[in-house]
Amino acid sequence: TEKRLVDSEKLTAVGQLAASIAHEIRNPLTSIKGFLQLMKQMKGEAKEEYLNILSDEVSRIELITGELLVLAKPQAYDFQLINVGKIMEDVVTLLSSQALMSGVDIHSNIEALPEMKGIESQLKQALINVVKNAIEAMPNGGNLYITVRNKGGAIVIVVKDEGVGIPKEILNKIGSPFYTTKEKGTGLGMMTTAKIIQTHQGGFEITSIPNQGTKVKITL
Ligand code: ADP
Ligand code: MG
Repeated sequence: TEKRLVDSEKLTAVGQLAASIAHEIRNPLTSIKGFLQLMKQMKGEAKEEYLNILSDEVSRIELITGELLVLAKPQAYDFQLINVGKIMEDVVTLLSSQALMSGVDIHSNIEALPEMKGIESQLKQALINVVKNAIEAMPNGGNLYITVRNKGGAIVIVVKDEGVGIPKEILNKIGSPFYTTKEKGTGLGMMTTAKIIQTHQGGFEITSIPNQGTKVKITL
């Protein structure tokens, strides 16, 4: 038997991912270094503004590395009996203040579900990513419809917004690492969500109409 260690296609993909991760983390690091340098030269002046910037940049690195950790291979023992409806309820509660601030009304309809085997922390993160995107797509408010249904053994989750939508030519870029149209986005949410759904052998579909809204359907 032979194992090819030099698979150039795989290595190119790894190289590209490594380069983009390094780039995304180096930006805030460079800014942290610069501000630390400036602060060294200051004597007893108001440093609060700089401390805020430092803290924001550190948070950004934390966010990016936290999202990438999901890509690590899960262990068999990470899978437990979980209730997806309960997880979605938690997610709605967690994001309710953000929704309120954007004038988004969340209408959720969550059926009683059988338990399934899954990784709770991962599925919660996946649902947070999807619901957060839906809220962020409606900066001027709107309705957000969430349903979780038990359809003949499968769990079907639909998150539908009335937001900006996604133009057709952009739809296939979504889920590529670091692809974002937001000023402060990481562009990691959809990639990690897709990875999590794949880990759970589920399905993940996005349909969207620009200026009307987006529908995300997850099947588990
Ligand atoms: P981020 O939210 O940090 O930008 P994501 O991977 O979560 O990264 O999303 C990538 C991009 O996909 C977003 O920047 C946005 O352009 C688009 N997108 C995702 N969900 C929606 C949605 N519900 N409505 C409109 N655009 C969306
Ligand atoms: Mg997002």
